[in-house]
Amino acid sequence: ADITDKALVGEGLTKVFGGFAAVKDVNLSVRRGSIHALIGPNGAGKTTCFNLLTKTLTPTRGRILLDGEDISRMRTSDVARRGLVRSFQISAIFPHLTVLENVRVALQSSFGTGYQFWRSLRAVAPLNQRAEELLEQVGIQDNRDSPAAALSYGKKRALEIATTLALEPRVMLLDEPTAGMGHEDIEPITELIKRVAVGRTVLLVEHNLSVVSTLCDRITVLQHGEVLAEGSYQEVSNDQRVVEAYMGG
Ligand code: ADP
Repeated sequence: ADITDKALVGEGLTKVFGGFAAVKDVNLSVRRGSIHALIGPNGAGKTTCFNLLTKTLTPTRGRILLDGEDISRMRTSDVARRGLVRSFQISAIFPHLTVLENVRVALQSSFGTGYQFWRSLRAVAPLNQRAEELLEQVGIQDNRDSPAAALSYGKKRALEIATTLALEPRVMLLDEPTAGMGHEDIEPITELIKRVAVGRTVLLVEHNLSVVSTLCDRITVLQHGEVLAEGSYQEVSNDQRVVEAYMGG
């Protein structure tokens, strides 16, 4: 495959914490337009690997390529400008601002921060229109004037996705999108991810294997900081080593 097929590549990624290698020589390619999952038992190195790819952590060794360009030494803001965006954590939602205001702040933050940020809270701008479109896309337009804190857990996740979409990601990284969710929220969020993934590349860390099987084209399984298997859900779930890893091997 040509390098341009690969939206995001991790090459020989290694992260050492005080002598302990949490991630060891991981090679990972996320094909453009695919939904790719990073799975593995607890302690496998998923979060560390994800944090390396999102530039939250700096690798001890290895590099990260976005559309073939080495972004290993780039700042998160420059990487975001190039279209790689990590989903905001729920804690990054401003609980006292309304749902609409939260999306406006995210839209504004793609242009700048500081003075402009505060001005944006008062400005009646075309930003509002874009913000409303985003709320519609994630299906929480009826909650636009509620404080974010009043949203259900599932709707907070939808708001989080709207604030991520505000940055116009080409490659979207989602950290456990269904974490802490009850059954009633999991299906809508899975459908939502499927919808917003159209025309984009998505990499997610996900514990719920039924969500992974519904959503993902390709799966990388980590164990002890290394890649144990890679393939379709069908392929990795039939891999004896993967089965053993999940049974506590
Ligand atoms: P997972 O997300 O798959 O559960 P993590 O990436 O969180 O795995 O952790 C992988 C291993 O690295 C674990 O053994 C964990 O204890 C260790 N680890 C993660 N972060 C740190 C850190 N900041 N300092 C030391 N060890 C860490």
